[in-house]
Amino acid sequence: MTSIEIKISKNLNFGIEFSCQLCGKCCTGFKEGEVYLYKEDILRLAKFIGLEGKKGLREFAEKYLKVINDSFFWKEPGAQRGKTYRYKTLGFKFTEEDEHCHFLKDNKCSVHIARPFQCRSFPFWQMMVSSKKNFDNYTKKCKGLQVLKGQYYSRAEILNWAQLEYEIEENYFFEMKKHNFNILKVYPFLSKEMLEE
Ligand code: SF4
Ligand code: SF4
Repeated sequence: MTSIEIKISKNLNFGIEFSCQLCGKCCTGFKEGEVYLYKEDILRLAKFIGLEGKKGLREFAEKYLKVINDSFFWKEPGAQRGKTYRYKTLGFKFTEEDEHCHFLKDNKCSVHIARPFQCRSFPFWQMMVSSKKNFDNYTKKCKGLQVLKGQYYSRAEILNWAQLEYEIEENYFFEMKKHNFNILKVYPFLSKEMLEE
């Protein structure tokens, strides 16, 4: 359960049909963004490719991840105003000329069943679902959203994806806040060099 009520924009009120058309653009962060991973994503994916324990996770992080800046708006219960917190999080390093995720092979995800939640929940991220403007903006970039054919997702299913997606981000924020925004406390397998890159 998230601390906010997720709103759904009118254009999604009756659900939509969506199936990925394998253009691979989201796996480059659409050239301007990032592909974020959180703790469970990292543990699942590292295990899937045979890297476990602190040593395995360090190897996974050094090879595939980078430290990136993120932000989250939070209002303490009872407070009149909230504020935007800025802190570090983890995302995929990109590779080759078109800067794609290391796991994208021939425009297909080579780790499909273990892919991060951000990949799984697209195009039903909270910021897209609650804003027609954002949704339209991503429609220009994602072939699947232009075609709008394939698997049907009801309003309730869309909302559920958006809620889960927001919740993961919110939980990470709470964990970072608890550790005074020291990412090494949350991910002890990261090397100090990664923070300096
Ligand atoms: S941008 Fe859309 S169509 Fe292209 S790979 Fe991602 S989800 Fe599939
Ligand atoms: S894990 Fe798979 S779906 Fe996610 S960015 Fe990488 S290749 Fe794309």
